[in-house]
Amino acid sequence: MSVVVIGAGQAGLQTIMSLRQGDYQGEITLVGDEAFLPYQRPPLSKAYLSGKMERERLFLKPDDFYSDNNVTLMLETSAERIDAAAKTITLNNGETLAYTYAVIATGSRPRLLDVPGRNLDNVFDLRGMSDIDAMQPHFTEGKKLAVIGGGYIGLEAAAVAASMGLHVHVLEAAPRLLARVAEPEISDFYTRLHKQHGVTLITESQMTGFVGDGAVSGIAMADGSVIDADIVITGIGILPNVELAEAAGLAVENGIVVNEVGQTDDANIFAAGDCTLHPNDLLGRTMRLESVPNAIEQGKAVASAICGAPKPYHQVPWFWSDQYDVKLQIAGVPNDIDNKVLRGDDSTNSFAWFYFTGDKLTGVTAVNRPAEFMAGRMLIEKSLKGEAVADPTKLVDESLKPKQWLA
Ligand code: FAD
Ligand code: NAP
Repeated sequence: MSVVVIGAGQAGLQTIMSLRQGDYQGEITLVGDEAFLPYQRPPLSKAYLSGKMERERLFLKPDDFYSDNNVTLMLETSAERIDAAAKTITLNNGETLAYTYAVIATGSRPRLLDVPGRNLDNVFDLRGMSDIDAMQPHFTEGKKLAVIGGGYIGLEAAAVAASMGLHVHVLEAAPRLLARVAEPEISDFYTRLHKQHGVTLITESQMTGFVGDGAVSGIAMADGSVIDADIVITGIGILPNVELAEAAGLAVENGIVVNEVGQTDDANIFAAGDCTLHPNDLLGRTMRLESVPNAIEQGKAVASAICGAPKPYHQVPWFWSDQYDVKLQIAGVPNDIDNKVLRGDDSTNSFAWFYFTGDKLTGVTAVNRPAEFMAGRMLIEKSLKGEAVADPTKLVDESLKPKQWLA
């Protein structure tokens, strides 16, 4: 029996770790198109960009993990085609690998900003280690950074830059920051936070291109003005890497369609991580998530199925972001919010919002409140399963500790 994992990232590595932990004894090959062993991406826009974290600490496992676990590594190698009928994978080096099970863990890629000047020097995307290595030398005091996109990437990079003494503009096309991932009150909080650190924020921005001669020198705006910039980072969202699956004839919508253990409509092909559209029974819908916890839990589910002891993936999704000295932690993806309550004071840097859909607790957003996040996440799960009632008055009562909500 042999497993070929395509994509040497968070989900691919987790699948391998869980296969070996699940006592899978067969062959494992890991095919990755980057030049590096699997590494964590979250520090890229945080401690690694600021220079506070060494490159060595990014790697998820040391070199000897792969030899110790009998994993054949094929880095700087791209999978180009899956022949589902023949159960083979063709690589860009001309080799063909046979598989019993293939796992597609190809992640996602930055959405490209298709405007004039996008190929000028010092205009960067932010997805991989190489992107940071290229932009980091420009992060010096007094430089002008323009960030396109006020999502997690843009705001985390802006926070690092502002803390290092760069002059920062963030241009967001939507009416508010973090519009895709957070509620309006959280957008308001981050607007204040970044302004306090000297960042200039422009929402409903309309840029038409980049200007410069060789290297970028500014952003051309629709009103004819130009915002000066020595460096530009674009963070305008991602696209899931689904093309391999699509060409293999697998079902693809907004992501590779998989079941609760990551199996595609071909029983021998699984998928995990950013590239999948998967069901979440707890939330009662399918979703595509872009987060480390999702990649890890899906990797575990895929391995469990290959090992013959399927453990379906049904998690309350959760996310975090570090900007300045503020840790944001979000649990749940509430759809229709009927009620919300606040614990603490959201004009400070320490509070938590709780979101209700009907009488169910469906979301918690905690700012520097790890205990509220932890207990809130568990309470969402219990509330959704009907095992506990989340009482809004208890959630906001600061005389009660969060763990008492679960008693
Ligand atoms: P990836 O980790 O991206 O791995 C996919 C790998 O497959 C890549 O190496 C890719 O190059 C490779 N690949 C693609 N196609 C092929 C092919 N045909 N052949 C071979 N290899 C291929 N999430 C959080 O939860 N918290 C955070 O704070 C956070 N911060 C982030 C910061 C940044 C800068 C970025 C970019 C992402 C961040 N994320 C964060 C998101 C998180 O990193 C991703 O959700 C996670 O990495 C997804 O894991 P994955 O395995 O699906 O994809
Ligand atoms: P994102 O959350 O989708 O945010 C991108 C933002 O850019 C959106 O608000 C988008 O608005 C806006 N935008 C799009 N086109 C624009 C334009 N032309 N001008 C100005 N703004 C524009 O994605 P991201 O911040 O790029 O992050 C990429 C990936 O990295 C995601 O998977 C994210 O989850 C991950 N990541 C996660 C973390 C974390 O969890 N802490 C940190 C960093 C990165 P519209 O929605 O209106 O298009």
